[in-house]
Amino acid sequence: MILIDGRQTSAKIKEEIAATVSQIKQQNQRVPHLAAVLVGMDGASMTYVGAKVRACEFVGFDSTLIELPEDTSERELLNQIKALNNNPDIDGFIVQLPLPNHIDDQKILMTIAPHKDVDGFHPVNVGRLTLDLPTFISATPYGIMELLERYDIPTSGKHVVVIGRSHIVGRPMSILMSQKRKAGNATVTIAHSRTENLAAITKQADIVIAALGIPEFLTAEMVKENAVIIDVGITRVPDTSKKKGYRIVGDVDFQSVSKKASHITPVPGGVGPMTIAMLLKNNLLAYHRNL
Ligand code: NAD
Repeated sequence: MILIDGRQTSAKIKEEIAATVSQIKQQNQRVPHLAAVLVGMDGASMTYVGAKVRACEFVGFDSTLIELPEDTSERELLNQIKALNNNPDIDGFIVQLPLPNHIDDQKILMTIAPHKDVDGFHPVNVGRLTLDLPTFISATPYGIMELLERYDIPTSGKHVVVIGRSHIVGRPMSILMSQKRKAGNATVTIAHSRTENLAAITKQADIVIAALGIPEFLTAEMVKENAVIIDVGITRVPDTSKKKGYRIVGDVDFQSVSKKASHITPVPGGVGPMTIAMLLKNNLLAYHRNL
């Protein structure tokens, strides 16, 4: 069994980006600049945004963190986004989700200029993805494609079962893997909460991508020998033995499934660490387009 190491792979990608940035600096050009907008004081969001800012520093990007109070109105936030859209020094930016309840997420995401939408959530970018056009691929699916590629996992003609149809993971994953591309050309089944007899379907899969958010849902009985298992799930499960009072658990019963799998991503340390690296990669793409 080969453990797919997302920490090591993401560190390598960040080093590659840092090397590109140092070449940019040597040529005395301006460096890529990523901005992040954070509304309110949600603990998890603050942690994620903090990690993104630190990652920018690591690779040599400029970064701007715009912190707005919880009671920021939708109009104020829209104005902030328009200012970022029009600022030529900012190559790409993200608005950290979730937003407070009084703000319409979709309205906000639709206002981000597609060429700066490095999260890849704007309908223009999602549409481009479905049409096989160059776009910003959202960070989690992009990270999974990168892991499959870098671990040389054969996908062409293979049967991939994606569990979950969310807009940020399952749906784009199913599109990417069916495309004529590296780590693509697969035959894809997308399963969801209404799927009947799921185990019979997952047992036929050469690759299972579990993105449903139910801890240890996928068990050894549900997968065939030598399957490749990608675990996207991140759930905080109460655990008094931990300092934080919880531990992070994936959607796969790692203990049993890892004995059957040819490759498997651990949680934590698999898909999760890839997302920030892929966000930086998207911002580098935005920078090159913005030159
Ligand atoms: P979501 O809640 O938006 O979607 C869950 C999907 O699972 C739905 O499409 C639903 O139909 C499906 N589902 C639910 N119960 C099911 C069942 N019993 N059988 C089959 N399908 C079922 O979740 P999401 O945003 O896609 O996230 C999924 C998981 O991935 C969560 O644990 C989330 O925290 C995690 N996640 C991780 C990363 C990362 O960077 N690793 C990024 C995004 C999400």
